[in-house]
Amino acid sequence: MISWQLTRECDLACLHCCTDSGPGQAMPGELCREEALSLAADIAEFGVPYVMLCGGEPLLSPHFFDVAEKLGESGIQLKVETNGQRFTVESARRLAALPIRSIQVSLDGETDGAYRSLRPGASLSAAQAACRFVREAGMPLEVTFAPTRENLCEASAVIDRALALGAFRFNTGMLMRVGSAAGYWDRLVPNAEQYEEFFSMLEARSLELAGRIELCFKPRSLDEAMALQLRQPPAVLLVRPDGLVHLSASMPFVCADLRTQPLSRAWHAYIAGWERIRNMQHARSVLPSESSRAACGADPRKGDRDVLAEASASVGVLDRETGSEAVVGAVVR
Ligand code: SF4
Repeated sequence: MISWQLTRECDLACLHCCTDSGPGQAMPGELCREEALSLAADIAEFGVPYVMLCGGEPLLSPHFFDVAEKLGESGIQLKVETNGQRFTVESARRLAALPIRSIQVSLDGETDGAYRSLRPGASLSAAQAACRFVREAGMPLEVTFAPTRENLCEASAVIDRALALGAFRFNTGMLMRVGSAAGYWDRLVPNAEQYEEFFSMLEARSLELAGRIELCFKPRSLDEAMALQLRQPPAVLLVRPDGLVHLSASMPFVCADLRTQPLSRAWHAYIAGWERIRNMQHARSVLPSESSRAACGADPRKGDRDVLAEASASVGVLDRETGSEAVVGAVVR
């Protein structure tokens, strides 16, 4: 499976963004159309069954539809993750011709106030309209909700909204201290009591809505997610807009460069990279817990990626020679 960030460009600058995306935030060296199409052909040839197209806002990539159609015409199942701001009837019509497993729209609030407090300048009605276009075009819809202090009280109403809009799944979890969210952490992160209430509500509503909509949530912190990944590495290659492949969204390590390496080699490097990390005697020190970071005085304005990269460098994991075989490197951005 591949999660492909087509661009870091976005028409929004959300406070809780985990990829530091935003207006004018396209990465230097994002793949051009020819490179992206070449990668799409490689993905098809390698037999990847499922690709998630995300960003930033994937629809802002000038070659979004070219890539989606190239993958879809090869029979690859697709998921598109969008903020819905520019998702039109025409977008839905074009995508509906492809093997779409789902379109995921971010709905972080039921009122303009809560929604815009996280997504300044965004239009909640545009995001809800996008959901309707998805369903009217006959595609499966997922809704995602990022929980923060600003919108937790509206979570249940957003579940009702997702159901009314025809979503088959509502995704949520715990806020991740990465990207922009790290900078707004104290303002955004729910406290323990708020989280407890939130997950109790989700448990109760899961039972109530069983068979009508799936509530997909894991009360798992970033530290817990990393620990789980060390035990059970995911078979998901996270491809950045510049073609570098991350071992995981929650770790800063890269294992390959698809601009210069074929996917087959990247896959072997991915497996070897996870093996290398799992075998590291220093794994625990590379993945410091929030409490240990606080104890050693880590800069609270930095996201986990920054902290992890510093930790990685300190134990000699860093290797920027991403062109070589089975390299585990760290990328800080
Ligand atoms: S959270 Fe999504 S919509 Fe918001 S800035 Fe990040 S990529 Fe863009």
